[in-house]
Amino acid sequence: MNYLPLFHNIKNRRCLVVGGGQVALRKLRILFEAGASITLVAPKIDAAIEALVNQYDNDFIIHRRKFAADDLVDVVLAVVATADKALNKTISAFAQAQNIDVNVVDQPELCTVIFPTIVDRSPIQVAISSGGASPVLVRLLRGQFEALLPAGLGKLAELANNYRDRVKSIFSTTNARRQFWESALEGEIAERVYTGNKAEAERLLKSRLVAAEKATEGRVGENTRGEVYLVGGGPGDPDLLTFRALRLMQQADVVLYDRLVSPQVLDMVRRDAERIYVGKKAGDHPVSQANINAKLVELAQQGKRVLRLKGGDPFIFGRGGEEIEQLAEQSIRFQIVPGITAASGCASYAGIPLTHRDHAQSVRFIAGHKQDGRLDLDWPGLVNKRETLVFYMSLTGLEDICINLLKHGLAADTPAALVAKGTTAEQTVLVSDLMGLPEVVRQSEVRAPTLLIIGQVVSLHNKLSWFRQREE
Ligand code: SAH
Repeated sequence: MNYLPLFHNIKNRRCLVVGGGQVALRKLRILFEAGASITLVAPKIDAAIEALVNQYDNDFIIHRRKFAADDLVDVVLAVVATADKALNKTISAFAQAQNIDVNVVDQPELCTVIFPTIVDRSPIQVAISSGGASPVLVRLLRGQFEALLPAGLGKLAELANNYRDRVKSIFSTTNARRQFWESALEGEIAERVYTGNKAEAERLLKSRLVAAEKATEGRVGENTRGEVYLVGGGPGDPDLLTFRALRLMQQADVVLYDRLVSPQVLDMVRRDAERIYVGKKAGDHPVSQANINAKLVELAQQGKRVLRLKGGDPFIFGRGGEEIEQLAEQSIRFQIVPGITAASGCASYAGIPLTHRDHAQSVRFIAGHKQDGRLDLDWPGLVNKRETLVFYMSLTGLEDICINLLKHGLAADTPAALVAKGTTAEQTVLVSDLMGLPEVVRQSEVRAPTLLIIGQVVSLHNKLSWFRQREE
């Protein structure tokens, strides 16, 4: 280990900052946040520093002059951020001679302490350092931690802190306390905090404590209730999941998923979660909607955290509404996480803007599947050359759709595209016009899922296409 990581309590303790530029500004911001008393020494001070200083009421002294040896008197930490290497070296030597910790920005050889990269969810803090080996790697890692840690994590820690004594008085053994906290800090209480409902989280926490007080110690698990997470898994590329989707996928006990959920997305679900496939496959008997609804209720009533994972967005042609209605009727807790719907995903990955000032002022999402062998749509209402039409579930009905739109007056040369397996490594985009697309599709070997996009915006595909796609 090259460095010993320590968290420093610097509140109201004197730190010296030498330098008045952008680099000093960054360090000053952290020192202000940590509550330090600060002395700043520099002949010239950036206007941005003056603006920063005004935002804080820390004890702050400023000297507009060069560094003097006396500046180190009563200082616990010196931060040196000047461009003058000789000066940096002198200050570092002075500080070290007096056993004062010193950080010289970007000159690790002159430092006794280094600043880590911080992910701040105070009071939870993550500090990352490579000891100077790879700052870029550290920055990438930081991005991953930022994504991983819910924005409300700090609030959850505060809540836990407020109840520490109470929990201690109720549970006498550390084991029982640990069990209590483990169940409280994951699942419904944590989720209430993350969704911004701290009062409800606190109410739940209190009721669990009251129940635990009455019951024999250690039987905390008994009053935890199940919950259903209705989560949009997006069109296929796992990078398109939301942070919340990923978090809930990581804590579910059981997952019910259907055909449109890509294997890569399913891979992100907690390894030991039970997986139940409820989709349709040619030749298979699909699980009926009523059975899915009943299963969700049953699993939640067993106290499980149930992930209902759907392709795209659950509220766009996803029957998400129906599944949730039943849960609401049974007073089962649920939350709904939007996903990137196929139209957004396919359009972006195919370089087809759904609206465009020059081509389309509106966009319509339409279910294009046949019911009882026919398509019952308001054709005249769909003919508008300044609107983009997006048909879901339309591979079998594609020809009928094109013919009907032509018949009702949409121009034969209106650009049209079929995007198959959009956003995945197997994405295929077939482009033609309203007249020609059915034949192009017949000649190809595209497979479901496919999305049909019709409108002038499709003409931008050639120019804006960026995602590598399979050669047809
Ligand atoms: N809730 C989903 C849609 C479910 S309906 C969503 O918001 O995207 C199923 C239809 O979605 C498919 O028939 C197809 O038209 C479309 N679809 C879903 N994923 C797709 C993908 N990766 N590529 C192309 N179309 C897709």
